[in-house]
Amino acid sequence: MQIVEYKMVQFLMRLKKPYRFAESTYQTRPINILALKDELGNVGLGEVEAFQFPNYIDETQSECVRILNTRILPLLGSKKFDTPFEFSKFIDSTNGPYMARAAAEMAIWDLFAKRNGVSVQKLIMLALGRTDAVKPEVSVGVAIGIKDETSELIAEIRRQLELGYTRIKLKIKPKYTVKMLKEVRTEFPNQLMMIDCNSQYGLKDKSFFQNIDGLNFAMIEQPLAKNDFRNHAKLQAQLNTDICLDENIFNSEDIWKVINLQAGRVINMKIARVGGISNALALTTLAEKHGLKVWCGGMLETGVGRAFNLALASMPLFSFPGDISASDRYYEKDIVNEKFSIVNGKIRVPDTPGLGVSLNEFAQAKFNEIEWTKI
Ligand SMILES: [Mg+2]
Repeated sequence: MQIVEYKMVQFLMRLKKPYRFAESTYQTRPINILALKDELGNVGLGEVEAFQFPNYIDETQSECVRILNTRILPLLGSKKFDTPFEFSKFIDSTNGPYMARAAAEMAIWDLFAKRNGVSVQKLIMLALGRTDAVKPEVSVGVAIGIKDETSELIAEIRRQLELGYTRIKLKIKPKYTVKMLKEVRTEFPNQLMMIDCNSQYGLKDKSFFQNIDGLNFAMIEQPLAKNDFRNHAKLQAQLNTDICLDENIFNSEDIWKVINLQAGRVINMKIARVGGISNALALTTLAEKHGLKVWCGGMLETGVGRAFNLALASMPLFSFPGDISASDRYYEKDIVNEKFSIVNGKIRVPDTPGLGVSLNEFAQAKFNEIEWTKI
């Protein structure tokens, strides 16, 4: 396969409610959709999932787009690829930001799936050497942003449970008290629930974690600083609750650090953060071989990124519900025609050839305004 043209289309996604994340509050989220065209005229879509500001990992939307446009995409024209794994190897050799590489690699999976007349989900299964049936749907969970009051938090959890989510993740920050989390647990004692700290705590907060250790959270995600494996290991040694690492994990060296230092027991795998689907499969396989649990995380995707997450999360490698929400969770208007709804805690995985989603009228009009660039 050869890539002959590309285009990058920016959408300013308007959030239904401000999303508070660590130290930032987002009202809108710029997301660029990268389209790659092959020599047969097929079009594959990928999504740049970095946030506007570097408060998740140190990558931003605009920088990923700049590097794709100036450094990565111009290199594709002279290359031929026989598999998505070959492409992944090549794109990793560019050493660009992970989330830039992932956008191009996603589009390649869409293209290969279209060329072969199979869904992305089926193609990933075949790439894993599995010929058994694919899962028609996956169990999903939802992430709830930071709230000021316990009552607000409880009301929001109740709302999400009513919508059908079976796993709740609470984003927390240091102003959350043990009392607050105890009240939540008293209200929902048996609910599958976890917390995500987005690197906002230090080892000095050890007693906070020890005091919530008995609250039956499924895991504590990324409590300590990005790239800090040693202190995560120190904290894990003193807790029964599993620590899940997110912001720390980019490549196999990071997985090895978790294994060797016992820095956690769970990995939140995100296609964007590890540079694409091929890497996500390789890292998940490595982690599971060494006894770590892995599940599929999310990045407030559009319908394009969501479809890739559903395909990945449906792989037999994953057993814990992923952070994949219904279409109407975050944005006033999505960019794809297909609606993803929660039924009994599950979302259907697209099964038509390629990614299985198409741009809606509003997105297609915007898409048509941008010219293709020949490589
Ligand atoms: Mg996280």
